[in-house]
Amino acid sequence: MSTVVGALIEKIFSETCSNRDGELADYIPELAAVAPDSFGICIATVDGYVYEVGDARLPFTIQSISKPFTYALALADRGAEAVGEKIDVEPSGEPFNEISLDPTTERPRNPMINAGAITAASLVAGPDVESRFERIRGTYSRYAGRELTFNEAVYASESHTGHRNRAIGHMLRSFDIITGDPDEAVDLYFRQCSIDVTCRDLSLMAATMANNGVNPVTQDTVLAPVLVERVLSVMSTCGMYDGAGKWLYEVGLPAKSGVGGGIVAVLPGQIGIAIYSPRLDAHGNSVRGVEACRALSTELELHFLHVT
Ligand code: GLN
Repeated sequence: MSTVVGALIEKIFSETCSNRDGELADYIPELAAVAPDSFGICIATVDGYVYEVGDARLPFTIQSISKPFTYALALADRGAEAVGEKIDVEPSGEPFNEISLDPTTERPRNPMINAGAITAASLVAGPDVESRFERIRGTYSRYAGRELTFNEAVYASESHTGHRNRAIGHMLRSFDIITGDPDEAVDLYFRQCSIDVTCRDLSLMAATMANNGVNPVTQDTVLAPVLVERVLSVMSTCGMYDGAGKWLYEVGLPAKSGVGGGIVAVLPGQIGIAIYSPRLDAHGNSVRGVEACRALSTELELHFLHVT
């Protein structure tokens, strides 16, 4: 590791910087207001060292990178069996916001698409929406090792334009996947997507997963190892939506992207990787994020099937 990693991320950063392909997400108006060329790369190791380059400390909203962390909380709250009755673990091959359930099981196909993520949010325990959201925000903060904050403007923008997600929520209610108030579940999902993080935070959240659920800096145990395994499994097969197959083929790491422009990837037992660059490809994945991860995986031989 050490200076080799530092030099490598500097090199990949400067090689990837010239790529200005892709578009900002604009279906949530507030997301189209960010600086399009921001770019940061961070790698956090399981012994708590963070390598960073570029806009590593610039805040942006976590968006769909929240999904594995809320799924983990639902698993911890309800147990794997109860969650499995509501959310399947099969890649969908469909866009993240598809209004669909598996026709045979009548469940969302996985927790990384919106239907599964809204269901996972509905399963987070707590007496009311406020306290359930505080549990979500508090748990993400423990993964990051610092207090994360809520972005009111992005939340308002998403809530104002989130008709498709509301349609998904009501579909879930009509199939009894959500048994409570569907609007409440969708609201909780909008809120979790609107938590601000930096690239550095995300690398530590990923490194906590890589470190079997223990934050490598604070030594806080955030998730049981048996659940880490389950979460990383669905990140491997479903984390990059309908780009998941190509991602696994080329990069070979469990990962999750968000329309805010972040991507996290996890090398179990070793490192957490995070990239921020808000121009997105057609799947909603950061263009430079995918390119930089591909380069990192090749140069450091990170593909999980790679034999040295
Ligand atoms: N909040 C966004 C939505 O549901 C998250 C999507 C994403 O990051 N892919 O539309």
